[in-house]
Formats: sequence, C-alpha cells, structure tokens
Amino acid sequence: MLAGGMPRFSPVLCALLLSFTTPAAAIGAFASAVSANDDLLALRTLDRRMETVGYRLAARAARLCPEKAPLPGFLLHDVSQYGESDRAEVRTTFGIGNAPSVLALAPDSPAAHAGLREDDGIVAIDGRPVPDLPSGTSGTFTRLVAVTDQLEKALAGGAVTLTVERSGARQEIRFTPEQGCPSRFQTRPSDTLDARANGDYVEATTAMVAYAGDDAELAAVLGHEMAHNILKHRARLNAAGIQRGLLQQFGRNARLTRNTEVEADRFGVYLMAHAGFDPQAAVRFWERYGREHGAGIFRAATHPSERRRIEIIKAEIARMRRLEQAGQEPLPDLGSQSD
Ligand SMILES: [Zn+2]
Repeated sequence: MLAGGMPRFSPVLCALLLSFTTPAAAIGAFASAVSANDDLLALRTLDRRMETVGYRLAARAARLCPEKAPLPGFLLHDVSQYGESDRAEVRTTFGIGNAPSVLALAPDSPAAHAGLREDDGIVAIDGRPVPDLPSGTSGTFTRLVAVTDQLEKALAGGAVTLTVERSGARQEIRFTPEQGCPSRFQTRPSDTLDARANGDYVEATTAMVAYAGDDAELAAVLGHEMAHNILKHRARLNAAGIQRGLLQQFGRNARLTRNTEVEADRFGVYLMAHAGFDPQAAVRFWERYGREHGAGIFRAATHPSERRRIEIIKAEIARMRRLEQAGQEPLPDLGSQSD
C-alpha cells in the first residue's frame, strides 16, 4: 500500500527483471492493493506522474532510439480487473462505467491535445467496438489485455479514432501518435524502492515514484531503466549466459551485469537532456539515495556504488557540455567503457 509511509530499504535499486510476464501482472497489484477512495486517487496521481515523465522521455528523446514505436500517451484500466468488492468504489471514485477508461494521461501527448481526458471510456477504436465486459466477479485482465492489443494494432497504422463516452454522451477523438522510444511505463504498488526494466516495459514501484523529489529525478530513474531496454541489455546478458539469482553476485556474472548498469547510467543522462530534463537531477537523486539508503552492509556486486554512479554521471554531463560548447549534438558514445 502507498499509505503508511516510509519506503523500506532495498539494496538493489535496479534489477533486470527475470520473471516479468504481462503488463496485467502489475496492474493486478494495483487492483488488489487498494480499497479506499483516497488511495485510488493517490495511486492515480503516481500513475499520471509516471506516464507524463515516461512519455516525455520516450517522445522527446526519440533521436537516441534506433527503433521507434507509436506512443499512446495514456494508460487504461477497466472495472473487470478489480474484484467485485472494489468495483463500486472504483466506479464512484473515477466516475466510470463499463467501458475501459483512461486511468492516466500525459498532458503533452497528441491524444490529450485532441481532447481525450482521464476517465473517458473507450467504446470503440477506429469504429470497431472494444470487447464486452466479461462476466464473473473476480478480477481479470482479459479485456484490458485485449483492448490494449487492439489499440496498439490501430496505432501501428498511424492516426486512430477513439469513440469515447463521457458523462453519458459519445464523441469521437482522432489523433496521430508520436513516434518514440518503444519503452512502456507502469507503476507497481509497493513500499519497496525499486525500478526495473524487462526489455519492453519500465516498471517503478509507487514508493520509488513518490521518492523521486521532482519530475527530473523521476526522469533519472526512468531514463536509467529505459536505457537498459534501448541498449538491449537483457538480451545481451542472456546471450552471455549470465546466471541470475545469488550467482549473479559473483565473478563474471557480476562484472558483466555491472557493465550494463554503468552503460545505463551513462546513456540515461543523454535521454534526460534530450527530453529537456536537467541531468544534474540524476546527481541529486543518487546523492540523496546514498545518504538515506546507501550505508547498508550489503552492497550488491552487480551495481556500482552510489559514489561511483555519481562520478560516472558527472563525467557524462561534463562531456555533454563540452560537445554543446563545441556546437555539436550531445550524443552518447558508449565505446569507452568506464568501470
Ligand atoms: Zn539498472
């Protein structure tokens, strides 16, 4: 639960996720972890922050991503993902009906500019109705996954028209998605400070989103995770036969994993800068994190120390400034390994 305050200590900030299944798994935690109105609204605020900062990174730093994907700029949820006991609360809190609805919307996305709003119900996409609400009283992600697939397929073709329901009236909203870095973003309700990347998704716990002092600090966390996806670190470590779990803490496993962490720190700085976030926020974040959480006895061998991370990030910021002063575009060069 979000309520109840202080995040617990977590020795490893960032782990390449091993057992990530579907986005629904994380949304499921959202459904089961909440019951009260205030908690729902508080969680939505964190989802919105995540979507807004993630969208800005993915859209504005697209130059740094060799592969691009259409970015919807909003997250959906659906009453059927909640258990029966929570559905009335969800309907009342968000004022939603049976249609899948917009949970969080990035305000600078084309969908928002076209008039989409949070809590709009999505009735049809390009004229095709979304699947009916499944029967049954326990939470299921069947329809949310189906609608998300339907939306992504439509977005792959360019402009889409959403038929939305708002206060009982229907209207059509048409927008052309921005093409950007393909990472998708989601929050997971948890008191543990954690952020992860699995190749497609970037996930941060609600505690981590709340811990980031401002949007630029959150961009530092998300930029690092996005970098893992953009640089295909998970595939690289798999190809190198890295052993996960306890064995990842030793020898070659630890060294190769640590190299990906250093690369993600370095690349993340450029993502931040291209998206218009002050990269100095990454230094601020790690200084604070080190002060408040870094004094543990256990130091993960897979990750550089906070002090080392700060050095690495400062060196990249300095390099970026030199390039800018020389009138060159600040693009990352990961050819020189620095750990
Ligand atoms: Zn990492």
